Amino acid sequence: MTKRLGIIGYPIDHSISPIFQQAALDYIGIDAIYEKWEVTPEKVGDFVNQLRAPDSLGINVTLPYKRAVIPFLDEVDEWATSAGAVNTIVNQGGHLSGHNTDGPGFLQALLNETGYDPKGTSALILGAGGAARGILLALVRGGVESIVIANRTLERAGELSRLSYDNGVASEAISISGDALNEAANSADLIVNCTSLGMSHGPDELGSPMSAAQIPATAIVNDLVYTPMLTPMLKEAAKAGATALGGLHMLIYQGVLSFKMWTGQDPPVDVMLDVATKEMISRGA
Ligand code: NAP
Repeated sequence: MTKRLGIIGYPIDHSISPIFQQAALDYIGIDAIYEKWEVTPEKVGDFVNQLRAPDSLGINVTLPYKRAVIPFLDEVDEWATSAGAVNTIVNQGGHLSGHNTDGPGFLQALLNETGYDPKGTSALILGAGGAARGILLALVRGGVESIVIANRTLERAGELSRLSYDNGVASEAISISGDALNEAANSADLIVNCTSLGMSHGPDELGSPMSAAQIPATAIVNDLVYTPMLTPMLKEAAKAGATALGGLHMLIYQGVLSFKMWTGQDPPVDVMLDVATKEMISRGA
């Protein structure tokens, strides 16, 4: 029986998960098809329930349903519970479990591609939206020593700073446009852009939250934005001589961890990264 996998979201057309997940399935020789489904909000519950069918291995979940799917699951793991978001559902004999591989994928991408391990380090998070929250929790779980959150709306940075304190990690909230940013950058081992600055079709396509002059050469800079692949922030990081990593790696590694949960097998990361990069280039990114 051909097994079914896929991703739900609304909208979903932009997703490249079907490209790199199908490439991995085909490479290993697993008889499964990975699709994408645009599901309207009132149909989410019914959609999740039919995943208990024997031909379904599970799905990925993207915006805006990462929280909405939770009430329809039989079990939610600890990471997804603390993030309040599920991006992977696994069907095992009609039992649906919810997981979150975004945070672990972020950490895995950094470790594999740059050697960065959060233990005992200082991190600077730019932005305080949904992605920033997930990154903060991942860094906390990874053993980071201190975190500074810089955001345009200071109040939202303050909320994340409290979340960090609640999890036992010292933290500070600052404005993304003041002098405090330079100071925070100088003592940061890792700088993560979780704003939508520099994103194609976003609020400021050419914007970078930091200039080369503000980025220390010793820092690792990870931009979560992956359209375009070479973002304004990554260009600034390269000018500064810092180690730079684009957002496509996090996307691939969250998919790698989901794949392992569905199939029990390690997918070929290089194959996934290669087809995803080619797809992005063909889309003009
Ligand atoms: P979000 O919740 O809408 O948050 C957007 C953030 O950007 C907020 O902190 C917002 O600041 C800030 N921002 C927006 N416009 C700005 C401007 N003109 N100047 C300064 N700051 C600005 O979005 P999100 O879901 O967290 O996603 C953020 C980015 O991460 C997106 O580009 C998304 O594609 C990317 N992402 C990538 C991955 C991956 O796998 N690589 C995963 C998740 C997200 P305010 O609070 O002041 O509005």
